[in-house]
Amino acid sequence: MEEKLAINGGTPVRKEFLQYGRQYIDDEDISKVVEVLKGDYLTTGPYVREFEKAIANKVGSKYAVAVTSGTSALHCATLAAGLEKGDEVLVTPMTFAASANCILYVGATPVFVDIEENTGNIDVSKIEEKITYKTKAIIAVSYRGNPVKIDKIMDIAKKHNLIVIEDAAHAIGAKYKDSYVGNNANMTIFSFHPVKHITTGEGGAITTNDKELYRKLIEVRSHGITRNVDIMENKDDPWYYEQIDLGYNYRMPDINAALGASQIKKLDSFIEKRKELATLYSSMLKGNQYVTLLEDTEDGFNSEHIYVIKLNLEKLNCTRREIFSALIKENIGVNVHYIPVYFHPYYRKLGYKRGICPVCEEFYERIITLPLHVSMNRDDVISVIKALDKVFKYYSIEA
Ligand SMILES: *Cc1c(COP(=O)(O)O)cnc(C)c1O
Repeated sequence: MEEKLAINGGTPVRKEFLQYGRQYIDDEDISKVVEVLKGDYLTTGPYVREFEKAIANKVGSKYAVAVTSGTSALHCATLAAGLEKGDEVLVTPMTFAASANCILYVGATPVFVDIEENTGNIDVSKIEEKITYKTKAIIAVSYRGNPVKIDKIMDIAKKHNLIVIEDAAHAIGAKYKDSYVGNNANMTIFSFHPVKHITTGEGGAITTNDKELYRKLIEVRSHGITRNVDIMENKDDPWYYEQIDLGYNYRMPDINAALGASQIKKLDSFIEKRKELATLYSSMLKGNQYVTLLEDTEDGFNSEHIYVIKLNLEKLNCTRREIFSALIKENIGVNVHYIPVYFHPYYRKLGYKRGICPVCEEFYERIITLPLHVSMNRDDVISVIKALDKVFKYYSIEA
């Protein structure tokens, strides 16, 4: 087997590869899942309701709807918002493609709004210039777990009669002005993919305080079918149900919900651990001439999903790609979050061109995501810093 060599041909800083993110599962989680497998309900059973209650409880919302993924949560939200062909929806490009794909699913048109260079979140001051008579909604992403300024976004939305969907796939447990993310937008979506704060394998949820949106979300999650006699035409036949809308099967299995209900009990301790590791990264990287640290939103509490730094490439004799590859050789599982959505060939074919969000494009050229997950310890963080120092020294223009 070929021995893996570090940049200078020496031994890598770490012996074992450090993943950028991964789940944390304990025996309690496992026994909950096994309990479901031995029981009566594999899907839509008591754990779905328990998990939904726990989510609503955590974020302070009236309602929570569990679904099969963050992506299906976004799709349910754009359906419940009534978005359709001809509508325009404002969205940040610094996100996973799903945040914009959900607009295309319903035939509407994504309109990309540029980001703040210091946080990576949507630049609220640039929202209004993109609003036209066709604009119906805004999808804002609390990138890294750092909350968007939801009060300002809601003010703009009220003025122009828009619906706000917050993509909080990174941000369960985050707060803005002492209010939890999930309690302020018209709808907020969460993801429970294994790299996120808590996992259900695949899974997602939507929270809302609006009874009518909640009713629609419940409907589209399950084929557009209702058994609510108050709204059915046939109120007499006891076996009757009616399909009143075109929905999907996005129901979360009880197997997954049991895992979620067990995981969410640990959310606060998970966030505490992530905070400790992120704080250590920041304190060790502060003042490093090769790095610009991202900032947090004023009055926000960042729940620390990913730790992203910007490289000061003008101080380095190399590209971001070389730094990235060198870190992988040091067994540091770095990543890049994200490729601007409209850079993808599918979006290019739809007619989106480079240059529409210059701040985001410049941001993308410099970012690298360092490993951050609950199973890491302080020594892991220190090893990442060591590897960065080694690589920076190698590529420094001063060298
Ligand atoms: C993970 C993620 C999604 C999609 O969630 P899935 O559960 O993987 O479908 C959507 N938006 C953002 C910002 C994400 O990070």
